[in-house]
Amino acid sequence: MNVLVYVDHFRGNPIPASWEVIGLARQFGHVAAAIIGYQTEALTRAAFEYGADEALVIDDKTVDEYRPEPYASAFVKMVRKGALPDGTAKKFDLLLLPNTTRGRDIAAISAVDLNLGALVDAIAISIEGNETIITRPAYSDKVLIKEICTTRPAIVTVRPRAFPRPQPQAWRQGTVRQIRPAMKKSEIPTSPDGYALERMPDLGSAALIVAGGYGMGNDAERIQAGVAENIIGREGFYLLYDLAEVLGCAVGASRKAVEAGFSVYSIQIGQTGRVVSPQVYLAFGISGAVQHLAGMKTSKTIIAINADPNAPIFKVARYGVVADLHKILPVLYRQAKERTGRRIEERSAMSLAEMDANARRTIRTPRYSYEVVDTPREFNWEEDDREESDATAKSA
Ligand code: FAD
Repeated sequence: MNVLVYVDHFRGNPIPASWEVIGLARQFGHVAAAIIGYQTEALTRAAFEYGADEALVIDDKTVDEYRPEPYASAFVKMVRKGALPDGTAKKFDLLLLPNTTRGRDIAAISAVDLNLGALVDAIAISIEGNETIITRPAYSDKVLIKEICTTRPAIVTVRPRAFPRPQPQAWRQGTVRQIRPAMKKSEIPTSPDGYALERMPDLGSAALIVAGGYGMGNDAERIQAGVAENIIGREGFYLLYDLAEVLGCAVGASRKAVEAGFSVYSIQIGQTGRVVSPQVYLAFGISGAVQHLAGMKTSKTIIAINADPNAPIFKVARYGVVADLHKILPVLYRQAKERTGRRIEERSAMSLAEMDANARRTIRTPRYSYEVVDTPREFNWEEDDREESDATAKSA
């Protein structure tokens, strides 16, 4: 069986869920890694170390930044060209992508372009005859649904941390097949205008998440002293970011904390935010509403810090601390600094004015400039192949 796995990365930094998907793909047969980006040698090497047998690579300046159109069309082109396990072009039987934002983008666009069925967020996959069957959690993870796709290949996105990450084996190598990009620079309708580079790991693949809720803004002593709750909440989140940086983990937030302006939507966890499944989820001042639980209750160990002993979060928590989080969080941060010995540029030491400037500078979602151009969805394969053989002839 031939499996194509999309290796997700941000500017060349691999998303570990990609390696989990390669590990899963090896159970089905020959694994080709789809690598799209610029200066991709390290990614390609890592894909082999984690288990890919070959790599289909589009390494070009036009795809140095992720955009849905050039990446999805590149993936579609790889699918159409097929794998080459024994020197002959073969069709893929299964297309796997990590269920990350980019993975879902590419899966959806490719399903339309290739007229294939797509199944998302799989936590188990089996193949029976021409049917690809997945299991995925649904209705806020209350039930598990089995879904069947009858197109071959099927496109499946795989939930991060649902499968083990294989051990990398430095000696592993594979064959590399270079492919030209599917879109020319002038055909790509979007161009990134700036990124907020986060120092923390991606929420989807983080092993430890420290998350804050609306309780972050409720420091009774400071409120009595006249400090506004939204200022306390914002400061609290800066301390969470510092704690996360010292521990090398990610920060999450409840929707109410986001709506109160304590934090940003990109880290909201829950039904209308991100779904995460870390080894440890540390919840500060989060009540545990069902919509929040939908995004984190599959975490291996949940630790809740809440002033209310009856807060529903304690029903799912393995460890609970009934206390004022504003007394616990600074102590935890000091302990983490002492034990790890890490020194960081502390956000929590900033003045509010600096915080606002910093928020404007770093907590900014990518913006895109749009230009409407006539983007061909169908490629002229003959012309494309001719271009590629011309390029090969020139380089030879
Ligand atoms: P609260 O419920 O107000 O809880 C704050 C907690 O902090 C309380 O338990 C309190 O005891 C504790 N606390 C207060 N002060 C302290 C202190 N000093 N020390 C320790 N503990 C303290 N919510 C999400 O999170 N994610 C979603 O994706 C999401 N999607 C939704 C979708 C829909 C359609 C709807 C209707 C709601 C959604 N919600 C979502 C909102 C959800 O219902 C809750 O309102 C929200 O999760 C509550 O956030 P919270 O726990 O931070 O706040």
